[in-house]
Amino acid sequence: MSFCLLDFRVLDSQEILITWEDDHRSLFDPRTLRLFCPCAQCVDEWSGKRTIQAEKIPASLSLKLWNPVGRYAVKISWSDGHQTGIYSFDYLRQLCSCHFCHDKKNKNLPPKREKDS
Ligand SMILES: [Zn+2]
Ligand SMILES: [Zn+2]
Repeated sequence: MSFCLLDFRVLDSQEILITWEDDHRSLFDPRTLRLFCPCAQCVDEWSGKRTIQAEKIPASLSLKLWNPVGRYAVKISWSDGHQTGIYSFDYLRQLCSCHFCHDKKNKNLPPKREKDS
């Protein structure tokens, strides 16, 4: 299944909010998204191993600029100067960590107990 992105915005909190065509919403912390950058500088092309080092990403990282790439991806420029990452919509959707997506990914695992609040 291919996902289509309707809206992409940076909130005052610097979090990135994506609204999908199916009304689903994904909220991303900029640093998390930066760590999942799919470009050749951050991931070894052959092994698929992530070469990016979390400790080198500043805690205050924010998104500076983003541009659509065709109808399938966005290119993101970060405040640390990194700007080669192209995030496809499908990839962004996979990274969504909301309860709904998280539960779906783990549907084959035994259900977790709800945390007592
Ligand atoms: Zn990268
Ligand atoms: Zn989700």
